[in-house]
Amino acid sequence: MTQTQETHPFQAEVKELLDLVIHSLYEHREIFLRELISNASDAIDKLRFESLTHPEYGSADGAKIQIGFDLDARTLSITDDGIGMNHDDLVSHLGTIARSGTRAFLSKIKQAGAATPELIGQFGVGFYASFMVAEEVVVDTLKAGETQAWRWRSRGQGEFQIEPGDRTARGTRITLHLKQPDSPEDDDPAEYLDEFKIREIVKRYSDFVAYPIQLEPKDGKDPETLNTMRPLWTRSKDSIERTEYDEFYRRTSHDWTPPREVIHFKAEGTSEYTALMFIPGARPSGLFDGTQGKSRLSLYVKRVLIMEECPELLPAWLRFVRGLVDSPDLPLNVSRETVQQNATVRAIKKRLKKRVLESLATMLAEKREEYRAFWADFGAILKEGIWYGEDEDKQVEKLCLFETTHGAEPTTLAEYVARKQPDQKQIWYLTGERRATLESSPHLEAFTKRGLEVLLFVDAIDEWLIQRLPEFEGLKLTPVDRGALELEAPSEKEAREALDREHRDMLAAIESKLGEGVKSVRFSTRLSESPAVLLNDEHAPSAHMARLMRAANQDVPDAKRILELNPDHALVKKLQTHFQADPRSEKFNEWVEWLHGQALLAEGSPLADPARFARLSTKLVLSAD
Ligand code: ADP
Ligand code: MG
Repeated sequence: MTQTQETHPFQAEVKELLDLVIHSLYEHREIFLRELISNASDAIDKLRFESLTHPEYGSADGAKIQIGFDLDARTLSITDDGIGMNHDDLVSHLGTIARSGTRAFLSKIKQAGAATPELIGQFGVGFYASFMVAEEVVVDTLKAGETQAWRWRSRGQGEFQIEPGDRTARGTRITLHLKQPDSPEDDDPAEYLDEFKIREIVKRYSDFVAYPIQLEPKDGKDPETLNTMRPLWTRSKDSIERTEYDEFYRRTSHDWTPPREVIHFKAEGTSEYTALMFIPGARPSGLFDGTQGKSRLSLYVKRVLIMEECPELLPAWLRFVRGLVDSPDLPLNVSRETVQQNATVRAIKKRLKKRVLESLATMLAEKREEYRAFWADFGAILKEGIWYGEDEDKQVEKLCLFETTHGAEPTTLAEYVARKQPDQKQIWYLTGERRATLESSPHLEAFTKRGLEVLLFVDAIDEWLIQRLPEFEGLKLTPVDRGALELEAPSEKEAREALDREHRDMLAAIESKLGEGVKSVRFSTRLSESPAVLLNDEHAPSAHMARLMRAANQDVPDAKRILELNPDHALVKKLQTHFQADPRSEKFNEWVEWLHGQALLAEGSPLADPARFARLSTKLVLSAD
């Protein structure tokens, strides 16, 4: 085959990353080795996985990662016998940035203005890290199942070359031609051409890698394995340092923020398995997408990866949990279909779910700050457990945090109940988009006056959630913007009804002016600051729900609302004066329209004609009567 060399440009983002990596990560440059070893290990993982269905790829048994160096040539090489890459793989994997984590890294660095050590700890920079120490990188590779080998080379300056290669063994060899130091004060990258240095870096970053990492044998000596290698989850919990868990998590999940919690246990008894689960420290992108609406623990059978993401191991509403289960009880050839039917898998799922919820309950009880941060990232997902009716043992509802009028600190339902007034029979709540809007809602006035706490449901899912959460510890969850008047004392009721009778004519005039817009108009005892408020019928969707449904293009009949007026408010008194002067006057009608409009605004609903409302406001303010 006489193919010549092709030159390809790097994707613009790669150029940007290369620039950053080379110029700002200098002090952390030893991580290049961690990144290359991690890729080698991923490549063997892939082979192991693929060879289950493609025996012709050869076995991954005995697969290893070798590090070689040559002081005279100033080269360092990392070789694996993993899956390898073909021509197209090279172009897309080593010419573009596919991983969203790397993109996030780029934009974070740009925001921060510099690559700080925290950022570097949080993200991996991957293959391109090799250009921190190398002036040229050469990749020789042969993909499993193929016969044509390829060579990729680049000096990290905007382009790379690809040509046919001569590698005969499956896998990849990456050769770094180390840079000369820029000036005599700079550290010479040749420091990495040293057995002790390499040992040290491998121990620090790659000890848990599941395949042997060896120095390439020289003068006939048997290669020595530098890493401990035993898969982390097979070791006893007491022997594992938190940093090892963090490193393992980072490598397997490609999430560079350390996990918030680690759940590691061995189950013995009817079925035997080991679970290692992590509650992430940050919310990855895409978690809410339909395509990722499944849980994603990996399934291993006797340390062999069977399924990278096995949705049967945890309910979808725990899909933020990462990690794996290793069970010797399942057959190696277990398929997606059989996993679904498998009783062992079902038993495992039940137990895992319980352990995750227990761990969250402990975090809530003992580490409130952390739990709040967790909740901000994943609360909306966890709540889906209630919505789907899968919270049979009522554990999820106890883990929910809600905004509350009690203060800035979000509350659990149990904490609300502990604070309730002795004769209080309801858990009061109000739904809407934003805390600030809800806090100034006229609906709250009666509750504030009576010192009653109201939960502020500001998450879009909350409206749906409460349909599955009718009560908590015997207290009914009750919206404050419905027509029911549970709060009213008998004497207040009498006074209100007397007012309604006295002003029957005016109320009727307002009703006829507003027409379709309202069901009825009456006086209120619930207002102290606001002139008017709109209430919902007991069974109609709330104003917030109606907005959500409209936003989702659903048909929502215009709910007939009840307009309540504050009899003590100066504006309402003014309305009465105008009515008494002339019930048919333009003034009276304008005041009616204006009061209705501002009641809509106060609850965050849109106005039918905002421009008209603005003109009306200006006019009424100017005439100031
Ligand atoms: P990441 O490992 O996070 O995907 P990298 O920049 O480290 O990002 O690597 C980019 C891609 O290049 C990998 O996803 C993989 O497809 C490919 N790759 C890198 N090194 C190897 C290797 N030794 N063997 C096979 N493929 C590799
Ligand atoms: Mg990588």
